[in-house]
Amino acid sequence: MDISQMCRVCRDESDCLLDIYTEPCASNRVQEPEPVLATMLRECSGCSVNKEDGMPQFICVECAEAVRNAYRLRRQCRKSHQYFDQLRLMMKELDDIEYCLNIKDSIEPQMPVSTTMSMSSRKVMLQ
Ligand SMILES: [Zn+2]
Repeated sequence: MDISQMCRVCRDESDCLLDIYTEPCASNRVQEPEPVLATMLRECSGCSVNKEDGMPQFICVECAEAVRNAYRLRRQCRKSHQYFDQLRLMMKELDDIEYCLNIKDSIEPQMPVSTTMSMSSRKVMLQ
């Protein structure tokens, strides 16, 4: 049994196998540079992938495409996760500022201060 002819992912024997350690050529690259298939495979599968592991170092064209899609999905999910994390923080900060302003507004009428005074004190709160 010659595992060097087998796809590392689906175990099919194919005539058209791709080396997972070959750098993607520039024309195949999408806008954002992507790592070699081996790295994508490692990140998506959670399996260790390295040249000296004695495993097949080729995958078939279908699995290569599946690995790229999985990698892009993972990257997109992680980006959006970060984005929403930051957004939630920002929204919380805005809520806090609004809360402060509301308190300020509600106590303003009782305070014998001029409009210019209250405007400047509001600026201080926003800093
Ligand atoms: Zn395959």
